[in-house]
Formats: sequence, structure tokens, C-alpha cells
Amino acid sequence: MKTLLPTSTAGSLPKPSWLAEPEKLWSPWKLQNEELIEGKKDALSLSLYDQLRAGIDIVSDGEQTRQHFVTTFIEHLSGVDFEKRETVRIRNRYDASVPTVVGAVARQKPVFVDDAKFLRQLTKQPIKWALPGPMTMIDTLYDAHYKSREKLAWEFAKILNQEAKELEAAGVDIIQFDEPAFNVFFDEVNDWGVAALERAIEGLKCETAVHICYGYGIKANTDWKKTLGSEWRQYEEAFPKLQTSNIDIISLECHNSRVPMDLLELIRGKKVMVGAIDVATSTIETPEEVASTLRKALQFVDADKLYPSTNCGMTPLSRRVANGKLNALSAGADIIRRELAGK
Ligand SMILES: [Zn+2]
Repeated sequence: MKTLLPTSTAGSLPKPSWLAEPEKLWSPWKLQNEELIEGKKDALSLSLYDQLRAGIDIVSDGEQTRQHFVTTFIEHLSGVDFEKRETVRIRNRYDASVPTVVGAVARQKPVFVDDAKFLRQLTKQPIKWALPGPMTMIDTLYDAHYKSREKLAWEFAKILNQEAKELEAAGVDIIQFDEPAFNVFFDEVNDWGVAALERAIEGLKCETAVHICYGYGIKANTDWKKTLGSEWRQYEEAFPKLQTSNIDIISLECHNSRVPMDLLELIRGKKVMVGAIDVATSTIETPEEVASTLRKALQFVDADKLYPSTNCGMTPLSRRVANGKLNALSAGADIIRRELAGK
């Protein structure tokens, strides 16, 4: 990327109210069959337009064609029975009724590749595409087949690699894996989590990213954050291993969070997508607030490796708020670009 401080989002953006009920996770579709297929494409185009209008440099599909960042990918795989449900604890935080792994998991056909080709036709801007990470995938399932989290994660990593290679061929510039589970299961991250991630990116020539956050601004997450104390040092556990991994970019939650910014020193040398937009509040940041977070990050991230971004996805927010936040992100990045140019 030639632009200094290229802006992007963590991934998801709100859907139009004619497509799905707004400000809600797992929101049911309002359209069906052919109308739904067309509606998703229209929403993807709109979402791209919103990003371009706000001056976002690295654009995405806004995850307009998926109901949920993990579930939708798994729905396309064989070996998982969505009718057979068990209650499990998600990321040690809340109970949810989840599908069961009943046999060998496999990808019968591409999941998002057509959507990526469609987005590629619409824009010449660099595209980032988000996929769930292997560890986060296993954490939203009940496994009655492999009976080993590591084994199941490894199978998912192989499947993700197939999808990622086809996304790359479709013209995606950055493939991102969402791994909020990296902030919870530290022993597993170091034992096999990062290795599974590297299996997922094996052989890719495009850039790769991992997004690690404290979750959407939903109650289960905000309640959990209240228990984490005054300093959130979770990133410290995974950073040393990630610093020596093959992953190019690390996407993080920074703004309004209690993550000590100096932890970023542990991944010095990597490109960092610095979350400068809080997704857990409808208050729109001022450009100066965004700039202030970026300034702090610049103490630990080299300017040519800093990518201003959002803390997490914005799907549970209103479109008005999300667009306001995109504008603030662009304007805040601009302030810092001018400061750096003046030096
Ligand atoms: Zn996130």
C-alpha cells in the first residue's frame, strides 16, 4: 500500500433495514430465495459505497451476505448438523445453543468466492476479506466426532486454506482471520492456535491478517470486560508467538479499551491495524479522538506499518452511527498524515 496510514474496518458493517432487522446480531433475513440473493448483492454495493464515500482505503464486503461471522461459514460445511444442538459456553463467557460436529468436516464448494468476485468487479481499491479463525470456529460448536479441539481446529484450518486460496485468486488483497478466542484460551493459542492459523495461510501470496478483539458491543461482552480489571493484558499472551509467525498484519482493539498501548512493542515489525473506533458505543468519535489513539500507537508501531481501523465489526450499530464513525476514522487518520508530513 502506497498510502500512508491506510484506513480499513475490522469487517462487518450494518445491513440495510430492508435486508435484515437492524442493530441485532444473528438478525433474520427479511427477503427470500432470488430476492434474498439480489438483496445481499445490493447491500454489498451500498456498503462499499458507504466506505468509499467515507474515504476508507482498504474496503470490504461489510459482511452483508452473512448472518454471523462464524456461523455462516460453518453452515456451508458438511459434517456439522445444525438440527442437533447442544448448549456450550462460548469463550468462557455465555451459554449458547450450538450445532454438533457429527462427522468429518469438509467444504463441498466455495463459500464466499462469488461474493468476493462481485466486490472485485465494483472497485479498484484494495480489498480485505474476513474469515473466522480455526480456534474461534471450534469454540462455537459441540464436537461429537473428533473429540479433540486441536484436531478439529486443524481440519478447519485446512478448509479455510482452500477457501483463502480461492479468495486470493478472485482478487482479494488481504485475507483476515477473526480470532477473538485468542484473547481467552492462552495455553491453546501457544500450543497449537497460532500453528493452526499458519496452516490456514499456507501457500498464500496475498497479505494475511489476524483480528483479535474483545468482541462486539453486546451485553455479554461488555459485562465480561467489567471483570477484566484496570489493565487488559490478554494480548501479551499471544503476541510473542504472533511476532515470529508468518501472519503479516495484526488487527487489534485499542480505542477506549484498557489495553496498555506499550504491549504493541511485543509485535514490533508486524503491520498493525490499530482499532481507533469504539464499536461498543453509539457515540461517534471526533477526528481528534481518533488521532489521539493513533498518536499513542505510533510510539510502538512504525508509521509505515500502522493501519487505522475499528476495534471490531460494526454490524450491531445503526447505519447513521457506523457511517459517522467511518468519517471520523478517515478524518482522524488525515490529521496524523498531515502531522507526519510536517515533520
Ligand atoms: Zn472483533
